[in-house]
Amino acid sequence: MPSYINCPNCNAKLEWSTENPNRPFCSERCKNKDFITWANEEQVIAGDSSVSDIFSEELE
Ligand SMILES: [Zn+2]
Repeated sequence: MPSYINCPNCNAKLEWSTENPNRPFCSERCKNKDFITWANEEQVIAGDSSVSDIFSEELE
């Protein structure tokens, strides 16, 4: 019997599976978005503007 979780990013319902490489996220996009949010928070704490420049380039 499968168990279900909600994506931490978009709250989409998805089946928990060890075959899902993006778990607990629904997709690679949500997984990456969460990481970028985390990185930006770290960057604010560190006060290093060069980190922000690196992520801006990847988002384009
Ligand atoms: Zn999601």
